[in-house]
Amino acid sequence: MLILLRGLPVWPAWPAARLTRALPAPTGLPVVNFEPEARRCPLCAGDLLVQKTRTRTLSTLAAGTLLARETSRQCRSCAAPPVGSRQLSGLAPPRQRFGYDLIVWAGLQRYHHLRQRAEVRADLARRGIELSDGSVSALCDRFLQLLECCASHYLDVKRTVLVGLAGRRIGPMVE
Ligand SMILES: [Zn+2]
Repeated sequence: MLILLRGLPVWPAWPAARLTRALPAPTGLPVVNFEPEARRCPLCAGDLLVQKTRTRTLSTLAAGTLLARETSRQCRSCAAPPVGSRQLSGLAPPRQRFGYDLIVWAGLQRYHHLRQRAEVRADLARRGIELSDGSVSALCDRFLQLLECCASHYLDVKRTVLVGLAGRRIGPMVE
């Protein structure tokens, strides 16, 4: 037995920040664990203890549909807010079941390529992502919300730059 095990390739240690696939859940969907990357409290460097574990169905264009199991940890020494996985927050908005890549793809299909919901839905089904028409509509709504956030952020940045430029051009007020 030991000889057989020695013949197996040696797997590198998995850092907590990386995805680890577990056994399939009863739903048949793969379970992906998301652990916080932070090992110590960002405020006081104290120990982080598991606060809770939540599981949600998550559909992404890159990985299809999976069960995301997120563990959040909280400092035992201070009142710092719980920390979660930055990797997961980069993949999908909090507590939502659609990844950013899927939201953007669906929004572009609908509003840039002017495809009907049924076409978008059929295309997703070919990619292994089964959604209802209502879910496609929800995706497109979220795309517009994200676009609005980006546009608003862009306008804020533009306004700040213009105010800065105007101040430089006019110069400080001299009495
Ligand atoms: Zn702390």
